[in-house]
Amino acid sequence: MLGRGVLSTLYTLSQQKTYTLTLYLDIDQNKQSNRRRGYVVQGEALIKSLKAQQKRSDRFDTACKQALSLVRSLKPKGKTALIVVHPESKLRELVQIELPFPISIHWRRGAFLRPIVEAMDEHERYGVVLTDNQRARVFTVVMGELTEHEDLFSETGQRTRSLGADQMRSQKRHDQRHQEEMASHAKRVIDALHDLSRLIVGGTPKATGQLVRLLPTRLRGKLVDTVSMRVGGSQKEVLNKIIAVQMRMERDREKEIVEGVLAELHDRGKAVAGFAAVLDAVNQGRVWTLVYGKGYTNNAGECGSCDAYSPHAKGPCVYCGEDVHPLPQCVDRLSQSVIEMGGRVEVVDGDAKKKLDKPGGIAAMLRY
Ligand SMILES: [Zn+2]
Repeated sequence: MLGRGVLSTLYTLSQQKTYTLTLYLDIDQNKQSNRRRGYVVQGEALIKSLKAQQKRSDRFDTACKQALSLVRSLKPKGKTALIVVHPESKLRELVQIELPFPISIHWRRGAFLRPIVEAMDEHERYGVVLTDNQRARVFTVVMGELTEHEDLFSETGQRTRSLGADQMRSQKRHDQRHQEEMASHAKRVIDALHDLSRLIVGGTPKATGQLVRLLPTRLRGKLVDTVSMRVGGSQKEVLNKIIAVQMRMERDREKEIVEGVLAELHDRGKAVAGFAAVLDAVNQGRVWTLVYGKGYTNNAGECGSCDAYSPHAKGPCVYCGEDVHPLPQCVDRLSQSVIEMGGRVEVVDGDAKKKLDKPGGIAAMLRY
């Protein structure tokens, strides 16, 4: 599975002067064309097309050979296979991802990880608790992968049916106690799930409300939504519901981020906008959050001497005066630099993107 840890390793290991090969393959076994190892044919075709455009070298051939052998040994489970190969550093990694990505191949400095960075943005680690007055189920979702944590749950005792007025009263107390036990148990389970970025509580309205009231402040701050849904639903149903909530929230969040940045765009504000200003802030290591519209691109250069980014692809470096060379896919490189410095990258779409277009389509919140 792909987490920020793996991503950061791939990024760090591939930061070399020499090129890295990155491949995204569609391995989704629900597609007819991918069965019977159709993805191997896909991989071979991609490499062939890249070979036709590239100057051939031994290390390029080695990288291709290593990538293909990874593809051939793959047992497809996910939707996409990400392959990263850097021969000298013995970096040979194949990661399966439960999300679809466009098929692509890249031979460049540093692994091409921008699609993943963008996806991670939209798929943080969610915790989901479904509860009614009978039981509770706990899930976590990362990058489209849903895991049910049955192991964290022990039975809280079965409700028993009984007759007679006294017994009815006793049953009622019993039910009440059972519900309380259930809710507090569910609360402990959520507590045990560390590093959740978001929490969704679903189920019947009454049970949902009870659980929400029990949440400690720390978790309440992470609660993003309560949804009514069947507690016994299939994992697919649960996942679809979560994705719908995520999409809506993501759009809201993007709007908020962009509004936050726009509000800080004044003389003594904590944000800058426009390509040149953002590059300058990245060079100085001041970027806390990089924000840009989906698909943003621009011409940029990288200094061969001091490694600074410049808002032009040729000419002298703004810092040291040495020549810069063109930096293709500059937004990926910027994003990766920001992530490496412990910052965040937010890719916005829809209304948020439109709003960001006015100050130049790219902006940054600064650390200081
Ligand atoms: Zn320079």
